[in-house]
Amino acid sequence: MNNSDDREQVDAIWRKTTVLDGIGGSPGVAVAPVLIVRPPVLDVPERRIAVSETETEWQRFEEARARTRQQLQQLRTRLDARARSGEAGILDAHLMVLDDDVMSARVRTEIVENQHNAERAVRDVANHFVKQFLQLEDPYMKERADDISDVGRRMIRNLLGITDELPESWETPCIIVAENLTPSETIALPREKVLGFALDRGSTTSHAALIARALEIPAVFGLRRITSIANPGDTLGIDGSRGMVILNPGPRELKRLNGIAAARADAQRGLEHLRNEPAVTPDGRRIPLYANIENINEMSTVDAYGAEGVGLFRTEYLWLASGCAVGEEQQTAVYAAAVRALRGRPLVIRAFDLGGDKFLGNVGLSSEANPFLGMRSIRYLLRHPEVFKAQLRAILRARAGGEVSVLLPMISDVAELRRSRELLEDSLHDLTTEGIVCPPIKLGAMIEIPSAALSADLLAEEVDFFSIGTNDLTQYTLAVDRINEHVAHLYQPAHPAVLRLIAFTIEAGRRHNRPVCVCGEMASDPLTALLLVGMGVDELSMAPASIPVVKDAIRKTTLEQARALAEEALASRSSAETIKSCRELLSQVAPELLPLV
Ligand code: PEP
Ligand code: MG
Repeated sequence: MNNSDDREQVDAIWRKTTVLDGIGGSPGVAVAPVLIVRPPVLDVPERRIAVSETETEWQRFEEARARTRQQLQQLRTRLDARARSGEAGILDAHLMVLDDDVMSARVRTEIVENQHNAERAVRDVANHFVKQFLQLEDPYMKERADDISDVGRRMIRNLLGITDELPESWETPCIIVAENLTPSETIALPREKVLGFALDRGSTTSHAALIARALEIPAVFGLRRITSIANPGDTLGIDGSRGMVILNPGPRELKRLNGIAAARADAQRGLEHLRNEPAVTPDGRRIPLYANIENINEMSTVDAYGAEGVGLFRTEYLWLASGCAVGEEQQTAVYAAAVRALRGRPLVIRAFDLGGDKFLGNVGLSSEANPFLGMRSIRYLLRHPEVFKAQLRAILRARAGGEVSVLLPMISDVAELRRSRELLEDSLHDLTTEGIVCPPIKLGAMIEIPSAALSADLLAEEVDFFSIGTNDLTQYTLAVDRINEHVAHLYQPAHPAVLRLIAFTIEAGRRHNRPVCVCGEMASDPLTALLLVGMGVDELSMAPASIPVVKDAIRKTTLEQARALAEEALASRSSAETIKSCRELLSQVAPELLPLV
């Protein structure tokens, strides 16, 4: 052993093993050296320019803007090629910031009227808008501040001739540790060298989380102090499913993490043969499994993971990705493409679920103190019938080519359903008058508010099917913000109150002969998926990558076992008790799947 080996060993002994809990942002396990990414302090020169220099300075700004645009477009192409869920839309948001007229007019005033050099002008204007966005209540708008700051920094680097913030040549694979990552930093990282992310900030809806999931890179967010305790040379183990990281894992922890990773890989390999098999219990209960998608680019995953159709197309992402309203023609093209890709399999198109955390400044949604309780979703659509009708027309036009249904989000009473149906019928009538023939279409209601669940028997008379959105149902029943890391421990989909509302909805569906699907995250987790099957749901819709494991769990559990689990859960006193029972059942019927839970 030479001196440096010696030093390394002594060093390793002194590196303390520390376990931190955060929020699971993207599943999977990774162990690798940390790479701490801190945004470099940009030294922005400040200069008062002469009046005669102002046009040359503006020219410098324009040139830097053209360079920035080119870089962002290149990054976008790279992301398009690498990510499956089309997160490239985030770069579109950056391009919009870059070409925003209000911002560039302000930069021009700074340069031409206040005679400030371009770097200073860009910094001051970006800071001004970042501050304004950070003051907004809405978490989605707050995250837009990151976009502005990211674009501003890139512009200043280009003005200063600095080419890249992050190391270009990576010698070893690593786990990125950072306070937060901007979208373009995340995308610029070489996928094959980045094995994971561990961030102080962020929730499951932050940009970094979206991209990590799209690239299937394990990630943990909301760790709060990982950047203050990790040092260069440390090793980090991360378990993205459990939302846990281990800094400098010792031999015991390493063995455990490696064991989890190997077991996950084995379990995943063992599921590949199931792609074309149905999800049917050994005693014959068949549960169609559908995919949730946000973007047309994800259609490839529908086939890859063997979905029987799309149970939830979250169309509002069309708006969020492009940053503005999407018209009837553009929507028709997207929906028709989805219909073609499905080749006869069903497609459930959810009407725009805008508002809450899915917010756009330019669509007439103003800032609200409680956006999740405000002008969200169906409320927005009924307030803007022209937007709603354009979408209904696009859906109806796509219906002409295949098995398409409409799903209404955030329904809370019968009146909303009746008004929506009127608009649907109006749209159908208009299309018929225009000579476009559309077959009848099924209308469904999302059950994601306690008032909807508790009046499911009344709603059932107005619609053709239900789809239970357990993500929101949990949030609204328990009064726990679903994207707030500080109350994440209180967010419990298996809470007795949530289960009772689900049971009530299923019963109402059964009595009125209306199929009941669950499309919230509860369907993606094999533990709760078995519980839902036992409770009597007809269909499940989930993230495509979850289909194989849920399918295998269903194929190994009899309906009788699932029903016994549901009975126990409905009598239980806490979410913890129920999850324990679910785990016991899965350990009994399919222990090999536990690594994927
Ligand atoms: C839900 O609330 O469970 C749901 C599926 O809708 P979203 O997650 O898009 O709000
Ligand atoms: Mg919802």
